[in-house]
Amino acid sequence: RFITFEGGEGVGKSTQVKRLLARLESRSITAVRTREPGGTPRAEAIRSFILQGRSESWGAGAEAILFAAARLDHVKELVEPSLAAGKWVISDRFHDSTRAYQGLTGGVDDTLISALETLALDDHTPDMTVVLDMDPEIAFQRVEQRALEDGLVLTGDRFEKEDIAWHKRLRDGFLEIARANPERCVLISADQEVDSLEVAIWNAVQARFPE
Ligand code: C5P
Repeated sequence: RFITFEGGEGVGKSTQVKRLLARLESRSITAVRTREPGGTPRAEAIRSFILQGRSESWGAGAEAILFAAARLDHVKELVEPSLAAGKWVISDRFHDSTRAYQGLTGGVDDTLISALETLALDDHTPDMTVVLDMDPEIAFQRVEQRALEDGLVLTGDRFEKEDIAWHKRLRDGFLEIARANPERCVLISADQEVDSLEVAIWNAVQARFPE
């Protein structure tokens, strides 16, 4: 099984990915946790290359192409062999992020986004995608609060560089993707306690894969 998590900034994807892994492990299911952009050494190199250079932005089209190259490596080197070995693969972001960030929000046209998907996925469309949805104003407050608690300074984060209207467009992008792919995507409100969100996700996973 291949499950991906998607959503805007600060919706709590990473925490929920870890919790799902723990639940699967407690059922003796072997699962691999991965993320995008990244997941393999070469793909992680592309991630740092793009994200650290954000001040000299590549432009959404070039980002889409570079992330697709990273994705193809990720699929070939990690996703495909793990699935072939009978493991579950859980990815924190995958192809829907390119469509939402670079496509629907960044303005890269659908023809290029779709072509890159075909190329990079190589028939490995996720079996299930959990789309975590939250009002970006609330997500922003949560990110700020967490940074304050951890004594972190928010640098290099997209919240610094983009305005709230941009994040609202991003949210709409993910909602559009979820609506367009009802057989694959499960839309869940992330505006709830971490524990209850974990249960909501687990129920959705069990409903999708009852065996
Ligand atoms: O999900 P995570 O916080 O790890 O994402 C890292 C950064 O990469 C975020 O700032 C996100 O906005 C950005 N990103 C992007 N385009 C993608 C995927 C992620 O700009 N396709």
